[in-house]
Amino acid sequence: MQRFILPLLSLIVFLACNPKTNEQTGQEQLPNIIHIFADDLGYGDLSCFGATDIATPNIDRLATNGIKFTGFYSASSVCSPSRAGLLTGRMPQRMGINQVFFPGSFTGMPPSEITLAELLKEKNYATGIVGKWHLGHHHQYLPLQQGFDTYFGIPYSNDMENVVYMRGNDVEEFNVDQRYITRTYTEEALRYIESHQNEPFFLYVAHNMPHVPIYASEDFLGTSQRGLYGDVIQELDWSVGEIVKKLDELGLLENTLVIFSSDNGPWLVMEDHGGSAGPLREGKMFTFEGGMRVPTVAMWKGKIAAGRVYNDLASQMDWFPTVAALTGIALPTDRDVDGKDLSAVLLENGKREGDSYLYFDGSDLQCYRKGNWKIKKPYPGFAGASWKQAVAPHDTLLINLKKDVGERTNLFETNKKLTRELFDEMWEKYDALGELPPTLTVNTPADNSHYEYLSNKHAK
Ligand code: MG
Repeated sequence: MQRFILPLLSLIVFLACNPKTNEQTGQEQLPNIIHIFADDLGYGDLSCFGATDIATPNIDRLATNGIKFTGFYSASSVCSPSRAGLLTGRMPQRMGINQVFFPGSFTGMPPSEITLAELLKEKNYATGIVGKWHLGHHHQYLPLQQGFDTYFGIPYSNDMENVVYMRGNDVEEFNVDQRYITRTYTEEALRYIESHQNEPFFLYVAHNMPHVPIYASEDFLGTSQRGLYGDVIQELDWSVGEIVKKLDELGLLENTLVIFSSDNGPWLVMEDHGGSAGPLREGKMFTFEGGMRVPTVAMWKGKIAAGRVYNDLASQMDWFPTVAALTGIALPTDRDVDGKDLSAVLLENGKREGDSYLYFDGSDLQCYRKGNWKIKKPYPGFAGASWKQAVAPHDTLLINLKKDVGERTNLFETNKKLTRELFDEMWEKYDALGELPPTLTVNTPADNSHYEYLSNKHAK
C-alpha cells in the first residue's frame, strides 16, 4: 500500500502546483495579461475616440469586442511617474517620483516597490517587458530587478541621448534605427507570446512611439490623413492587430486580458509631431484633462461584454488591484495601494468603488475630481518653452466635467460654497496620504542638451 501513497502524494502536489494541469481540471485558470502602453498618445488620436484622420481598426476592435473607458486617468501627465503608478498601483508621489528620469539620473523607482510583475510571481507567472522602462536605468532599477524575467527595449525616452536597446541588464545595440522601433518591439512581443503560450504570462509592451522624435517604418509612411504622426499611430495599431492575431492563432484569446492605453496626454508643443487631445483642454505636462485623461480600451473574449463603455472615472493605478483580484493574489498589506479593483467593471457590468481623484503636477497637488465636479487651484500661467507650450494664467476653476469636458466654463463665481467644500475635501485626502518622501533627484541638465531632438530643433 505504502508504495502507492508516495506517488499519489506527488501527483496531488503536482496537480496543486501546476497551473496548466489546473486549467485542464477546471480548478483554476490564470489569465494572461498583456498591457500595451503607448507614449504620449492623445485622447483624440484613435478612431474609437473620435479621430477622423487616423484609422485604428485593430485598437477599435478591442473596444467593440471589449470595453472602452472614457474617463480613464494616468497617474501623471509625464512619463516616469505615470509608469510608476501603473506598475505599482500607487501614487508616484509615495515614491518621490515627481519628474522624469534622464540619462544622467542616478535614481530610479525604489527596488522595494512591488510591481505587477512581482505580484504575479506569487502565482509563478512568466513576466516580460518589451519597450520603454523609464524607471531608472542603473542596474538595481532595471526590470529584471523588479520582477520581470526578460527585458528588451529602450530604458528611457527616445529623445534622450544614447538611445540604446537593452536586453536583460545589458546594452545590446547602440545605434537604434528609430524607424523600426515599433516593428522590432512587435516582433519581440510575438516571440514572447509564442514561447510562453503554455503558461500564464504577463507581457508589458511599452512602446516608445508616438513620443518625439516620431518614426514609422516605410510600410506605414503616407498611410494616414494626419501626416507622419498619423502614420506612426497606424503602425502602433498594426502592432496591436498582430498581437491579437497571434493570440487568436494560439487559442489564447479567451484566456487573455488585453489592455491598450497611453502614459499621458499628447505633447502639444511639438505641433504636428505631437498628438491631439480631441475635445480635452491642453496636453502632456498639464493637469487639465488633456494631460491626464488617456484613451483606454480592454478586451477579454468571453469575459468582458462586447461594446461596453464605461464613462465613470478609473485610473492606470487600478490595474494593480484588478490583476490581483483576477488572479486571486492578495494585495500587499505593508503599504498603501491607491488604485481600485476594476474586476466588477470588467466582468459584471459593475461600478468601480470611489469617485474622486487627486491630480498632481509633480509634488504639487493641483486639482481634485469628485463625481462630475473638478476643482483646480489658481495657476500663474506658463510663458512657453521648447518643451512646454504657453498657457494663460487662470483663477480657481470649478468645472462640471459631465457638461464641459473641455474645461471651458468656470462655475467658481456662482458656486463658491461648493468649491470651498471640494477644496476642504481635497486637502483632507491629501493629509490622509501621510508624509510623502522628498522628490528623487533626476539631474536634469540645465541646458536641455539631454533632449537630442529638441537640441536639433534649436540648431535649425
Ligand atoms: Mg509619455
